[in-house]
Amino acid sequence: MKKNNWIPVWIISMVLELIAIFAIIWGIIYQVEHKVPFGSIIVAIGCVLALVGGFLMSKVIVVLRKKGGEQSMAKYRKKKGTDTWHWCRNCKNSPREDYTERDSRPGSDLCNKCKGKERRSDCTA
Ligand SMILES: [Zn+2]
Repeated sequence: MKKNNWIPVWIISMVLELIAIFAIIWGIIYQVEHKVPFGSIIVAIGCVLALVGGFLMSKVIVVLRKKGGEQSMAKYRKKKGTDTWHWCRNCKNSPREDYTERDSRPGSDLCNKCKGKERRSDCTA
């Protein structure tokens, strides 16, 4: 569901790239045919659009990767009587029994060891 929010950005960046390609090609053709600087202005605009589109696309890819990563770390566990949430099964403090479990990421009280493992991509879900 969250991924849907990024579809418009995908479309915008793809449209930008398409406009950019057409602008560059058309600008070059115009330049060759008319021998005036107007064509190179269009080529320059096309290059800027291509950069912006590429930038947006890379942002989307980063966000989608992050979301995918969070989804694979399904469950958050907290041992009864403690406040710290664990989500890496290979965290040695992760409770094996007598715990409460939730699917969504808690806003606070996250285990620092689990965070570290996540940063190093060493977190077993
Ligand atoms: Zn932990």
